[in-house]
Amino acid sequence: MKESKPYTPFANIRYCGAKTRTTPQPCKGSAMANGRCRLHGGLSTGRPVTTGQWTKQAIQQRREAVQLIKQMKVMCMLMTYEA
Ligand SMILES: [Zn+2]
Repeated sequence: MKESKPYTPFANIRYCGAKTRTTPQPCKGSAMANGRCRLHGGLSTGRPVTTGQWTKQAIQQRREAVQLIKQMKVMCMLMTYEA
């Protein structure tokens, strides 16, 4: 006769596991999609900021500036090694 596994109804439920302040055990709340329970998951940080320095254009400009600086650093490194 085939040996069957013991019935464990909650085997697939993931738990929050956040460090709790009141007890030494980790939190046993069932986890949401983000891995934490409803108490430890945190709330939304609000809608994305799309004005001022966080517009797509401003972010793109900063990225390009960072790329240029990186290229300049590489150039400087090469120049110092070749000398
Ligand atoms: Zn929790």
